[in-house]
Amino acid sequence: MNISQSGPMKTKLDWSAYDNDGQADAYAQIPAQGGAYGKAVAVCIGNRQCQRDEKGVMCPSYRVTHEVKHSTQYRAATLRAALDGELGTRPFISEELTAAMDLCVGCKGCKRECPNGVDMALLRSEALAQRWQDLGHIPLRSRLFAHLPRLAGTMKYLNPLYTLREKLPVLAILMERWLGIAAGRSLPRAAGHDFLATEPATTISAGDGREVVLLVDTFSNYYDPQNAKAALEVLHAAGYTVHLARPAAGERPLCCGRTYLSQGMIDEARAAARRMLEALWPFVSRGLPVIGLEPSCLLMLRDEYYALDLGEQVASVAKSALLLEEFLAREHEAGRLNWTLKPLPGKVLVHGHCHQKAFGAMKAMRQVLGLVPELQLEFIESSCCGMAGAFGIEAEHYQVSMQMGELVLLPQVRAADLDTWLIANGSSCRHQIRDGAARESQHLVQLLRLAISP
Ligand code: SF4
Ligand code: SF4
Repeated sequence: MNISQSGPMKTKLDWSAYDNDGQADAYAQIPAQGGAYGKAVAVCIGNRQCQRDEKGVMCPSYRVTHEVKHSTQYRAATLRAALDGELGTRPFISEELTAAMDLCVGCKGCKRECPNGVDMALLRSEALAQRWQDLGHIPLRSRLFAHLPRLAGTMKYLNPLYTLREKLPVLAILMERWLGIAAGRSLPRAAGHDFLATEPATTISAGDGREVVLLVDTFSNYYDPQNAKAALEVLHAAGYTVHLARPAAGERPLCCGRTYLSQGMIDEARAAARRMLEALWPFVSRGLPVIGLEPSCLLMLRDEYYALDLGEQVASVAKSALLLEEFLAREHEAGRLNWTLKPLPGKVLVHGHCHQKAFGAMKAMRQVLGLVPELQLEFIESSCCGMAGAFGIEAEHYQVSMQMGELVLLPQVRAADLDTWLIANGSSCRHQIRDGAARESQHLVQLLRLAISP
């Protein structure tokens, strides 16, 4: 965007929610350009609570660097300067803004913990989209990460290459030079089969006919199909008939659009979200809950879909979307779970995904794990694990990603007894735990599956 010459800035995301709530008008100076996007920036009142180390999750980049220039406040101030024309006529490709945004992992810690609820993850997505527009192209690595949902079906064929990369460090170094993929990072292996290819659209349980929709995300479909399988079994055991969310016949599997949004590819994120809404609407319009496993995928339906200008269906879909643990906690409270869980004597150490924490879903994790007799629960008071989607795979971010993991999470995982169950619902978190502590962790659904098995 050329700030001085182009007239009103055209944003890629819909920021009109900030036009209406009046919060920015009340609290802070609104930048000259950017319209409602500027108001979303002006939500920051500069009281610097994001520059502290106390309990909580905000802000992981400040926590590891202790530098103001890597805090939420500094990012908001730099965005404000950009929209006020202080960073030149093409601020979104300026060094200042690039550096300020560099270590934002999009964890949404600020959306939850900042007293004014600054949503830097979303502000960053818009800034990235503006950056690509000004640059005139999107770098190859960003496109590769963003297009994972399209590429995931073929990723299993790369597994031998990944094995070779681990045996031949020179290959990892070449990949780092050519693609900017950190040589020190393992690369996740796709499973040999994708879950949706073999499962029927609907599986009927012996329960009383209550129905749910299971949203099988890209990661659960191609990388961890055992989690989707376990979710199916757990929901059946609890008495539900399960429909699998699917696209029209012949189309590729659904995707929430998260990978596109994180990389600033807003049009592609919107297209993915539209497909998702179309597929879910026949169920949502009947009042069925939509249940997801991967926090950042499912919670996108409740959060960022509002900024993608998708129409009136969004509100109903958002209200129906629940993480598995949220759904089970709700159903337990309503006395609707027809299952008997067997005792699992042992310890469980739980790491919450950033977005679970940002949306208050950790309470549901505690409630549901608490249903399993004889489990001893311990929750790690951690901030972002440091992987944050593709962030920890990027060569220039690898070190800081590991530092984020070392703040709390990785030392606690290493200190845990080998027979302690490690629970992490985010696939990125499990990847970080594997790389940083050489331990395997699991989605909560695997523990529930154990508890329902005879
Ligand atoms: S981002 Fe939030 S916590 Fe940080 S300075 Fe701004 S208003 Fe305060
Ligand atoms: S999204 Fe996370 S990393 Fe980015 S500014 Fe907010 S708290 Fe910091």
